Amino acid sequence: MRAFSVQVANTRSPIMIHPDGVERDDFERVAAWIARYFEQPGAYRVFPQVRPGDVIGALPAEAPERGESFDAIFADFERIVVPATTHWNHPRFFAYFATSAAPVAIAAEALAATLDVKAMLWRTSPAATELEMVTMRWLARLLGLPPEWTGLIYDTASIAGFTALAAAREALDPSIREEGISGRALPVLRVYITEQTHSHVEKAAIALGAGRRNVVRVECDRDFRMRPDPLRARIAADRDAGMKPMAIVATVGTTSTTSVDPVRAIAKIAREFGVWLHVDAAYAGVAAIVPEFRYLLDGVELADSLVVNPHKWMFVPMDCSVLYVKNEAVVRQAFSLVPEYLTTPETDAINYMDYGLQLGRRFRALKLWFVLRHYGAEGIRQRLRGHIALAQEFAQWVRAEPHWEILAPHPLSVVCFRYAPPGSDEAQLEARNAAILEAVNATGDVFLSHTKINGRYALRLAIGNLRTQRSDVELAWDLLKRATA
Ligand code: PLP
Repeated sequence: MRAFSVQVANTRSPIMIHPDGVERDDFERVAAWIARYFEQPGAYRVFPQVRPGDVIGALPAEAPERGESFDAIFADFERIVVPATTHWNHPRFFAYFATSAAPVAIAAEALAATLDVKAMLWRTSPAATELEMVTMRWLARLLGLPPEWTGLIYDTASIAGFTALAAAREALDPSIREEGISGRALPVLRVYITEQTHSHVEKAAIALGAGRRNVVRVECDRDFRMRPDPLRARIAADRDAGMKPMAIVATVGTTSTTSVDPVRAIAKIAREFGVWLHVDAAYAGVAAIVPEFRYLLDGVELADSLVVNPHKWMFVPMDCSVLYVKNEAVVRQAFSLVPEYLTTPETDAINYMDYGLQLGRRFRALKLWFVLRHYGAEGIRQRLRGHIALAQEFAQWVRAEPHWEILAPHPLSVVCFRYAPPGSDEAQLEARNAAILEAVNATGDVFLSHTKINGRYALRLAIGNLRTQRSDVELAWDLLKRATA
């Protein structure tokens, strides 16, 4: 591309401006690399053989003074970055919540980056804004949500959850938005969770000024589900003590065991006391697309907000978390603040900057739209059913094997289990299972993670990757058994 020059005031020589060229070859190389990556999904070690600091050590201390060729940059990507990556797209990634990026959504990400809109106002991004509205309605129908609910896309469930709790605070006491919480006497705000609730709720309580100490852990039943009776008793006691119950967070698919809180019973209590109910279904919510798993969201229509993460179990690459709210006006009241330079003549359009902390927003709806169209609801259902069936089969293998045990119910695609030879105390079992985990992960063939359940160390196998086959799960089981030798 031709360079052109401009004369800047007070300088003698013109400054040369080199517009960026479009290097078709570079794009084609990247496209070919991505295609190859997915053609040989198991080619890399799922968990890399690197130590903390290795990547830093392989790179210069300073940014280059002169631009480098794409060849040089890409060569270092392949030499330094790829081998030091934990490959979430590997079919034997079984850790945390196993996720994967649909190639069609990766293409959409490239297109979104190309358009590079900042989707804060309708006029900065009409297509992004309206595609978000359309995909949110499509997804709401698939999940069986009330048609009047509004869907909003955020980066993560942590931020979507924070936004829901900010709305809960706004609904409870709108004065806080203007007056703040410092320097005046306010009742104590309380949030109700269980010990299984994801930690982002506590972070939100910190950020919103409620304070960690006012996050109340309600007792669970033996299957790790919130118990409604103690919830009611705690809310009543707090109210009688002059505190303000602000929100209950129920979880559908808890992080450790995927237990499902009884949303309908909890919602009745929330209504009785006028408390905001937020349902965190970050992982499991999408399974409600499958008719036989719609029960997961039973009662959710009585809640005030719900989070589901297409970037967890719906093949949308990081990041894409969806918040549904019954009353979008409360979220807008909590966050809308329009400086003069962002005023806009369209009075009948939605401006997504009004619904959260972020101003500029990525065009996330594009990849969700590509995924929904590429697989269709039936294609997604079929894949989720497959993952759940594989996890159930794995649990049967564990149960049938002497000295192995299942540690929690496994209604979905995650199994918590451990090796438990007789005659070992808890400390020995923890050390033994931690060693098994280290050994199987060190092979580079599989990657699992762990948790603690009622103080007991548990190995955790999560299935959620598009490319995982039965043979991958068989290999994991084989490696686990071999690691006990
Ligand atoms: N909620 C639940 C139940 C989770 O399991 C997780 C993460 O695993 C989160 C929220 C946080 O998700 P994100 O990484 O999107 O913030």
